[in-house]
Amino acid sequence: MPTVCERLQNDVIEAGICTGCGACVALDQSCKAVMRDTPWGPCPSFETLSCDLPDLAWETCPGKGYDFIKLYNTHYGHLPENWLLGCFQKVRTGYSSIPEIRRGGASGGVISHTLVYLLENKLIDAAIIVQQGTPEPLLARAKIVRTSREILDAAQSIYIPVSTLDIFRALTPGERYAITCLPDQAAALRLLQQNDYEPAKQIKYVFGPYTGTALYPAAIESYLRGCGVKPDDKVVSLKWRAGEWPGYMEIRMASGRVLQSKKVYYNFLIPFFITRNSLQNMDFTNEFCDLSVGDAWSPRFEKLGGGYSVITTRSAEMESIISAMEKASLLVMTEEDPFKTLEMHGHMLDFKKRGGYIRNRWRRAFGKKAPRYGVRPVPLPVSRYLVEVVISSIFLVCGTRLARKMLECLPESFMGPMFDKLRLTWKRFSKPVKRKGLGTLLMEQESVND
Ligand SMILES: Cc1cc2nc3c(=O)[nH]c(=O)nc-3n(C[C@H](O)[C@H](O)[C@H](O)COP(=O)(O)OP(=O)(O)OC[C@H]3O[C@@H](n4cnc5c(N)ncnc54)[C@H](O)[C@@H]3O)c2cc1C
Ligand code: SF4
Repeated sequence: MPTVCERLQNDVIEAGICTGCGACVALDQSCKAVMRDTPWGPCPSFETLSCDLPDLAWETCPGKGYDFIKLYNTHYGHLPENWLLGCFQKVRTGYSSIPEIRRGGASGGVISHTLVYLLENKLIDAAIIVQQGTPEPLLARAKIVRTSREILDAAQSIYIPVSTLDIFRALTPGERYAITCLPDQAAALRLLQQNDYEPAKQIKYVFGPYTGTALYPAAIESYLRGCGVKPDDKVVSLKWRAGEWPGYMEIRMASGRVLQSKKVYYNFLIPFFITRNSLQNMDFTNEFCDLSVGDAWSPRFEKLGGGYSVITTRSAEMESIISAMEKASLLVMTEEDPFKTLEMHGHMLDFKKRGGYIRNRWRRAFGKKAPRYGVRPVPLPVSRYLVEVVISSIFLVCGTRLARKMLECLPESFMGPMFDKLRLTWKRFSKPVKRKGLGTLLMEQESVND
């Protein structure tokens, strides 16, 4: 009988479906396991497979998948009314009323401002955030912070994977925390809480971004080579969403050179460096957080500028916190029809809910490991499978070494606008198929033969 350590190593890590969440490392009783940085994101390293991992490490590993239906029932006590949005209390659009926080945030600064509110009102002792630039400019780490300044300094989205749950080993017993994490991490965290893992129970509030796609760290090295940066010129800082919303990537070099690329332009890196977790995870709106926040992509807000978020509360306690912040004029918000807000993210919702399911199924059909989430989207017309043939073929071709090498020969000034045009054309072309049946999408229990 293989040990938990061997199962994770063989069936998840070497199978290429580890999300790098860090949960197994936190659970290692021998304290020998560590997360290591690799060009393909953080990866657990179990020294000579001698680590002492409990069964819980296998049960909670989100790389191998988790059962959405079970988790809904155990966490919320019921299934969602809408399978795209998940269980929720209210959905609003808005932003932080403090210009510095709004401007410093990825969209409207809502996550940062709410974390500050929890800290200042002593509802938590510390926040666990993720910060770019630690321990070096191109890397990012989860960090425990205890001041508002530190929370604000860590604002913004980080579009490379960062392990967050391994930080549980560093929590101080008796303290209360809030954490920011991605969907796979939020699900693993809920499973750890349900299994009475003490550090997870110290997390009182879970925050998370709506999560479309993330890039492997190798994307930035490739981008720098494509921009003709010399190997001896080092990066001194990297911001993913600098400047006015929606922002641009800004990389400062030791030589004084500053590279900037609009958010919609550096998206061209996605087909070449998209993470496996982005392709396999079926949760876009971060369904197991107390507060999930995304960009409010709509022509109305994009025209107004300044930064707008879509803000989804999922627990009664978080709803009362957000509504208290609104009453105190800390957040400027408008309550929205929850299902209408989904139109802002139709393509990404389809990419995750139907695309994720098809891609995982195809991987299994080709004899590869893929996570199981216990659900099957309905309807799933043949036309949607055909659209997926195009999408998956693009990822397959662009993800080859040759394609990545060729990309470095094409200047960003050409690739950025061209990719943006192609993306918009493809969106228009595939919209009828991708939106067909999406509004009324249901999830059925997946059969083991799927
Ligand atoms: C990988 C990724 C993909 C995304 N894809 C989409 C998308 O497709 N559509 C969309 O509408 N929105 C997406 N978002 C969300 C969006 O970029 C903003 O994060 C969100 O709108 C919150 O904005 P804010 O101004 O309230 O957050 P801020 O006030 O800027 O706070 C963000 C907080 O999140 C934490 N954080 C940042 N990156 C990570 C990370 N990788 N892991 C854990 N914590 C992190 C930071 O530490 C900070 O505390 C994505 C975010 C990420 C990280
Ligand atoms: S997904 Fe998380 S729990 Fe599973 S092997 Fe990877 S780091 Fe460990």
